[in-house]
Amino acid sequence: MEVLTSDKIFGGSFLLAPIGSQPQFTPEDLSDEAKAIGEAARDFMLGEVIPADEAIDKLDIELTKELLLKAGELGLLSIEIPEAYEGMDLDKKTTMVLLEEVGKQASFSVTYGAHTGIGTLPIVYFGTPEQKAKYLPLLGSGQKLAAYALTEAGSGSDAMGAKTTAVLDGDQWVLNGSKMWITNAGFADVFVVFAKVDGRKFSAFIVEKGDPGFTTGLEEHKLGIKGSSTRALSLDNCRIPKDRLLGEVGRGHRIAFGILTIGRFKLGAGCTGTAKVVLEYTIKYTGERHQFGKPLNAFGLIQAKLADMTTRVFVAEAMNFRTISYIDDRMQAVSWDQPDAAKRKLEIMDEFAMEASIAKVWGSEALFATADDAVQCFGGYGFSSEYPPEKIYRDNRINRIFEGTNEINRLIIAGTLFKKASSGALVLPKDTAAVPEAAGFTGPLAASRLAVELAKRLCCYTAATALDVCGQKLIENQEASARVADMLTEIYAMECGVVRASLMTANGHRWAALARDCADAYVNESWYKVQTNARLLLAEVLEGQPLDAALADLGALSGFVPQASSKLRGRIAQQVIEKGAYPIIQY
Ligand SMILES: Cc1cc2nc3c(=O)[nH]c(=O)nc-3n(C[C@H](O)[C@H](O)[C@H](O)COP(=O)(O)OP(=O)(O)OC[C@H]3O[C@@H](n4cnc5c(N)ncnc54)[C@H](O)[C@@H]3O)c2cc1C
Repeated sequence: MEVLTSDKIFGGSFLLAPIGSQPQFTPEDLSDEAKAIGEAARDFMLGEVIPADEAIDKLDIELTKELLLKAGELGLLSIEIPEAYEGMDLDKKTTMVLLEEVGKQASFSVTYGAHTGIGTLPIVYFGTPEQKAKYLPLLGSGQKLAAYALTEAGSGSDAMGAKTTAVLDGDQWVLNGSKMWITNAGFADVFVVFAKVDGRKFSAFIVEKGDPGFTTGLEEHKLGIKGSSTRALSLDNCRIPKDRLLGEVGRGHRIAFGILTIGRFKLGAGCTGTAKVVLEYTIKYTGERHQFGKPLNAFGLIQAKLADMTTRVFVAEAMNFRTISYIDDRMQAVSWDQPDAAKRKLEIMDEFAMEASIAKVWGSEALFATADDAVQCFGGYGFSSEYPPEKIYRDNRINRIFEGTNEINRLIIAGTLFKKASSGALVLPKDTAAVPEAAGFTGPLAASRLAVELAKRLCCYTAATALDVCGQKLIENQEASARVADMLTEIYAMECGVVRASLMTANGHRWAALARDCADAYVNESWYKVQTNARLLLAEVLEGQPLDAALADLGALSGFVPQASSKLRGRIAQQVIEKGAYPIIQY
């Protein structure tokens, strides 16, 4: 099969492309430079951050600042800052490697992400040359730390409902209002604050600690990530110089949402790093604890959990690197020297907004399931704060809430498909003919490859039917829309896993057999999720005979033959138990 080049790929196109026809960058393809950065980040985390876990979680702000300064000295804070401003300007694939490592301490990861990501990137993309020169070298070295202030007490998901105002008074902006839940607020020096100019035009400003009228509240008492600082901000006739406007008046939404799209990919990578740690200590514990005269990991139901945890990591890595590589390839072609570089780079990111939301929703829910499995494997000890699963269970809960809640991201995934279908960018075929044998699904992974094709057809047929009935109003039926989003998400996850396993098989990778088992085990369960969502979606928009007829049409698309799950999962568990960790490592 001819494989397209990455410049031919556009957002959502995976749904229509035959499996394997789109290029897929995998962790196995990482450059030596990316691996070296990953190693440096791992050494930093193992040497400095993980040993300080307890102190960090007691919210030792001075320690966190020191750690960030050390990270800055190692170049780990300037990864996305252009070289002209003393940054490393790493490609996005390398950034993902780094974020995976940093994800191994949840509070530090949130602090780090808020500083290097949502705090710093608005200035990278929208700052004037003067603003960049003033802030970026200091933010890149960790001498100054950043935060991003969008949310307010009355406006979270509905961010554009913000009430904070900005009025130009001579050569100063005067800001009034308050912000809520601001990560790093307890120590940040530079805050990107969103406010409405004249109460209407949503805009972004750079506010500095110490600006008159600017104060932060007390630390919030949170369920988890207790080592990250979260406070409210108050802007009471806060006066800042006129040149602290970021971007243009009335274009703040572009900054707020463009930056969040980038953050969603990153959150997926951070979740993967955490999941690896959880898997590792769960393997150890279930090997050491005995019940009924056997180690826990000798029992089939514990092995099934270890296998699921492994499979999720395998699929997550496949998903994270696939899309980011399309973005990276295009972004590399846009030099920061070009006058419209920021605009073009953000357009590339926007193109893959659906995949960014998929990575966020899937990654956060996969990690949540993994943390839950860990608690269960530890039994009563999993419920005790003396053992590690209790903390990760609490710490990772936030991932489903920030960077856009998973409900909002599901609506973005579905809404993007509906718009692309209506504009003709993605024409959804209502093709219920069985997948032709000529499609050549033979050999290893044949059943899983076929499942992906069937799932794509199920999704296209049912989403097209629902759009025929409801038109763009379909988005107003949120349950139906979430079913479309969940189908797209599972299809993408299955395909990324299966294609990665195929590539590893073709390249004779030493862990190819494990990779195939992971892909097959994932598809074994995931295919049924797509099928169920497809049927329930039809039931949302049809009834009576038309529903019966449409459900009957799906019959030709039910030809997936499952495998014995206990065999697949048993083999996966055996391998990770022997290795004592997730085995497919790159550096
Ligand atoms: C620890 C922490 C750190 C944070 N850090 C930052 C930060 O650094 N900067 C910042 O600006 N913000 C930050 N936030 C805020 C975070 O982004 C918001 O909490 C989040 O966007 C949700 O907003 P909300 O809390 O107001 O919930 P709401 O918007 O009130 O949502 C409540 C529930 O309703 C659902 N809901 C809302 N609207 C819809 C809809 N249209 N359709 C269906 N369901 C809907 C949501 O999905 C959610 O389940 C942080 C929050 C926390 C807890």
